Amino acid sequence: MRVRFAPNPSGDLHIGTAHTAFFNWLYARHEGGVFVLRIEDTDPETAKPELVDPIMESLRWLGINWDEGPDIGGSFGPYRDSERRTNHEETVEQLLSAGAAYRCWCTREQLEARGVKAGYDRHCRMLSDADRATRSAEPAAIRFAVPDGRDVVVDDLVMGEVKFEYADLQDRVIVRSDGSPLYLLAVTSDDVAMEITHVLRGADLLPSTPLQILITEALGADLPTFAHLPLLLGENKGKLSKRKGSDGVLSFRERGFLPEALVNFLALLGWSSPTQEEKLSVEQIIREFTIDRVIEHPAVFDTTKLSWLNQQYIIELDDADLVRRVVELDPSVPVDVVQPMAELIKTRVTTLAEVPDAIRYIHERPKLETSKWLGTDEANNTLEAVAEELGSLEPWTAQAIGEAIQKVIADLGLNRRKGTKPIFVAISGSEVSLPLYESIELIGRSEAVARLRAASSG
Ligand code: GLU
Repeated sequence: MRVRFAPNPSGDLHIGTAHTAFFNWLYARHEGGVFVLRIEDTDPETAKPELVDPIMESLRWLGINWDEGPDIGGSFGPYRDSERRTNHEETVEQLLSAGAAYRCWCTREQLEARGVKAGYDRHCRMLSDADRATRSAEPAAIRFAVPDGRDVVVDDLVMGEVKFEYADLQDRVIVRSDGSPLYLLAVTSDDVAMEITHVLRGADLLPSTPLQILITEALGADLPTFAHLPLLLGENKGKLSKRKGSDGVLSFRERGFLPEALVNFLALLGWSSPTQEEKLSVEQIIREFTIDRVIEHPAVFDTTKLSWLNQQYIIELDDADLVRRVVELDPSVPVDVVQPMAELIKTRVTTLAEVPDAIRYIHERPKLETSKWLGTDEANNTLEAVAEELGSLEPWTAQAIGEAIQKVIADLGLNRRKGTKPIFVAISGSEVSLPLYESIELIGRSEAVARLRAASSG
């Protein structure tokens, strides 16, 4: 069993494209098959070689590894279509000599003059051998000749039987007149040469499948099994790929999502566990992943669920792992602040990217905001009294700090919750922050006392 993932290097690896990669990979891992990465860089207008590395980085980050490819210093590189030109040319020769493809000299202007708006009128398919011979030196495109009267039924593992009528099938160009192969030729040639047994790809490619089937048949090769995967929709039910900018895999990394959470989330787009559980380890997903559980209709990208999953995975990280990942994302974060706060942070953020801001008040004195909790006599008295207590408190531990604060509040006869609000604001600059006593312990005596005094006199 062999599958392939064949991205175009024309932009960041889009999350929807990564979804296709992941389903191929899951299927290969579930079946014990081979997963191939093949870069479709045949279109000189859109293919950018510098985008291949970020594609590989995106896949690696998600844990999607490929099983073969050219050696690039100890690991596998991807196959690249641009390096398979000879192979494509051989395929074209084979099609031409079998009469399954023909040269076409029609220009766009000629087609327009003949009133051909879409598709092709098969003008050059009908030329006599003599006509062909006289034009043989002129540059020509090459078209695939759809066999007369052939309807094609795609027996798709996800979409079921999809019938394409002969009348709707066009003799498509497979090689441009400059000799460069088009997608349809390259993809079929590669899938045959690489002995791909299962083609899992986005449902948007279903319309090119009948031609791929006919070309494969014309080459006398075995047909792969097709499975067209549901497209992803944004929350507004629009096509996800239409949204610009923030849909690249690496942008999810920058925004502090964990790869574990992202792949778990991707798995649930169009597939579900037989247990109906939503939080699933990748091992469990591999074990349970079968195509018959892939649904046919588009899946909606639910960012609330992604955030929820991300938080679940953050909570499960051990402290050292959390610190490592936060620092990897933002090397300017002081490790000696994240480390002791790790346990407290976990339940309070949904992404790793929130951590630096969440702990900033510990190592940087926050700007004193105007707050309804400050400026009253009651607040000033509390802050002064707490500053006084903390000034000489021993030992300097969160627990002792807490007891001292509660004693001050009780002595002043204040409500426990309201009494601590001014202290929260004085220490963290905000009414909500990480736990107060631990924060004060970390901030240290002189800085904490200074913040309390600044807030009471301000
Ligand atoms: N390169 C195509 C794309 O990214 C995929 C081709 C295929 O899977 O057959 O749309």
